[in-house]
Amino acid sequence: MAKHAEATLDTICNTLLSYYPDAKVDLVRKAHEFASHAHRNQKRSSGDPYIIHPTEVAQTLAELKLDIPSIVTGLLHDTVEDTDATLEEIEKLFGRDVAELVDGVTKLNKITFKTSEEKQAENFRKMVLAMSKDIRVILIKLCDRLNNMRTLEHLSSAKQKTISQETLDIYAPIANRLGISWLKIDLEDLCLRYLHPDAYYKLAQKVSKKKTEREDYTDEVAQILHEKLGEYDMRATVSGRAKHFYSIYKKMERRSADFDQINDMIAFRIIVENITECYKALGVIHATYKPVPGRFKDYIAMPKANGYQSLHTTVIGPHGERVEIQIRTQEMHNVAESGIAAHWKYKEGKFDSSSRENIEWVHRLLEWNKDLLDPNEFMETVKIDLFAEDVFVFTPKGEVRELPHGATPLDFAYAIHTDVGNKCVGAKINGKIIPLKHRLKSGDTVEIITSPTQTPSKDWLKIVKTSRAKAKIRAYIKTQERDRAHQLGKELLERSLKAFDRTIAKAEKSGEMLRAGQDFQVRNLEELYIAVGYGRILPEQILDQVVPKEEREAIRKARKDADKEEAPSFLKKVFASAQKRSPTKNAIIVSNLSDVLIRFGRCCNPLPGDSVVGFITRGRGVTVHTATCAKGLDNDQERRVEVRWNIQEKGNIVRIVKIRVVSIDQPGLLALMSQTISACAVNIASANIRTTKDKKAIALFEVQVPDTGQLQKVLSALEAKQGVILVERVRS
Ligand code: MN
Repeated sequence: MAKHAEATLDTICNTLLSYYPDAKVDLVRKAHEFASHAHRNQKRSSGDPYIIHPTEVAQTLAELKLDIPSIVTGLLHDTVEDTDATLEEIEKLFGRDVAELVDGVTKLNKITFKTSEEKQAENFRKMVLAMSKDIRVILIKLCDRLNNMRTLEHLSSAKQKTISQETLDIYAPIANRLGISWLKIDLEDLCLRYLHPDAYYKLAQKVSKKKTEREDYTDEVAQILHEKLGEYDMRATVSGRAKHFYSIYKKMERRSADFDQINDMIAFRIIVENITECYKALGVIHATYKPVPGRFKDYIAMPKANGYQSLHTTVIGPHGERVEIQIRTQEMHNVAESGIAAHWKYKEGKFDSSSRENIEWVHRLLEWNKDLLDPNEFMETVKIDLFAEDVFVFTPKGEVRELPHGATPLDFAYAIHTDVGNKCVGAKINGKIIPLKHRLKSGDTVEIITSPTQTPSKDWLKIVKTSRAKAKIRAYIKTQERDRAHQLGKELLERSLKAFDRTIAKAEKSGEMLRAGQDFQVRNLEELYIAVGYGRILPEQILDQVVPKEEREAIRKARKDADKEEAPSFLKKVFASAQKRSPTKNAIIVSNLSDVLIRFGRCCNPLPGDSVVGFITRGRGVTVHTATCAKGLDNDQERRVEVRWNIQEKGNIVRIVKIRVVSIDQPGLLALMSQTISACAVNIASANIRTTKDKKAIALFEVQVPDTGQLQKVLSALEAKQGVILVERVRS
């Protein structure tokens, strides 16, 4: 690690002007002044004035050739978090762009990584990216972290370890993904120094002690390789470089061996003209030196996630030592050095749709220092929504969960556990209670509130976003409906059997029931009852099998004789509740059955004359909707049963229907309308009238009618009256 010269306002401005000659440095000066003032009473742990830190961060950003807003943000990045300065103030003085960047960095600083589990680290890295909608936020954060790492010696050992671990788990991999390899290397070596100081200093000592020896060795091997390739008329550049500490350390760890050999510190690089030459060079090397088995890697055919391409091999070199060699083209070398994140999108597998844009900006990231004089132009292209399709949220324990964009607390609950989802009644986000349909944002801490009495509802399907949650809710609803159909089917059968002095229990025990079911391709009794509940099998059909025809005839005959026999108490109960719900008895026939509890959908309020469908519902019985009712169509079609109006009951049926009459406001209106309705021999259950500002009257009547024909008469009679604008039947 090179010792860095102290950054000052002047070094920042000079660096900026070196790649952006037209830069207006006034804003940078103003930001430096603002930050100096804001941090005037603060000191770094080292005892230095605080302003040194943001100045260093801004300097690194300038060295990365970033734009003015990024450099200004580098200077301001800690002011909102650590001083009295506010975002409003910063927006006023430095503009919207800077204010947004400062806000982005401040938000990133607030999240702390809590576990060191590998998968969590990966999710956390994604979250950091997701929270930085602007790539510059990440770059500023990386430079901030680099300076923090460089000044870590002044902190307590515990803090050194925590910050280093976080840097190693989160920020170094992000730098690697962005392809900024020098930043990754610096961060990793600093982490090693604090996480494993013994190993670090031992390595440092060995490397410096063998400096001359190392350089001699490097020159010698590079020369030999160059000559060998020359023998095959290949033009190649060969060089050797010392590997960074952390990579040596990792290698030692992998081999669980101590580090001693000079050749372990060095990697050789052969740069040739094209891909064919790469493989040719590999051939020459392998023909000359014996390759170490299992050490050859073809990153040309299979590039690394960040776009890195090379051939890697290890051979037994001129002195019988292992020599690591990388072979690549100049173009591959540029990518490896300058950084490319193009293929990182492919790795996540989620950017296919937008990858064109992403690839474009990455290409520009590679080339911008060549072609673009105005970095602003470049920066416009990097303001992309990274991971726009995902949100990353915390569990109360600090674990990170990945959910699709637009996900709600219900999705989160089902992601935790099906039971948590099924029992979810509410959620807290960052400690505040929010509605279930609330959309989660990256960085939210989500706590699910459950209740043992809660059950999933159909409406949840409209709220949830993940297929997992949808599947679980559907499965629950389906099970519920099956349970209900099961219950209903048993009831219907029990009732039918009881009329012939049988019970389900007896028929089950004797095996009659199962035999009866075999005719209908059901596998077991449960399926049989469900089929009856859903109306696919009629109780009569089962009855045919269980009670012999002769026996039924005999019983029926006996019944006729004892005409006054009381109805079973069960039936009485059903009728009683049916009557309570509807003034109409036996208005509907369900699949040739009688005595089924009927309810009418309040949404469409069917009338005799309307074509109708029935649905087996929760609780017992069947709900009747008009054939066109949207709510009816919404129902699970599996629960659908055939229903029709009972023509024999015609004359006994009376249904209450609402009608609305809009007319011009005139005296005596209500009386006139009431007379008109009564004249059709129809009773009025209630009447209500209100007038509007534009001199209209809206009347609402509840009338008792036997069927649609009678209703139509009433509607027509009202329509015919003078001053009436509109007459309609109200559904719902
Ligand atoms: Mn900072």
